[in-house]
Amino acid sequence: MRTLRLCALLALGLAFGYTFGEAAEGQKAKCCQKAEKAGKKCDHACCVEAAKDGKQCEKCGGKNK
Ligand SMILES: [Zn+2]
Ligand SMILES: [Zn+2]
Repeated sequence: MRTLRLCALLALGLAFGYTFGEAAEGQKAKCCQKAEKAGKKCDHACCVEAAKDGKQCEKCGGKNK
């Protein structure tokens, strides 16, 4: 069916966009994600240091590309 194929394409596109966006930004550490959700910035010294360089804190599980 035509609609079904369109839906599948759309889902695929979304999945691609998602992984691509994440790869471009690296991955935030859990503690930083939590802080961000609460509308704050992570106050770990190691995360603050990493953020200064525009990076994610790898000590806390963040990943840079
Ligand atoms: Zn953090
Ligand atoms: Zn950290």
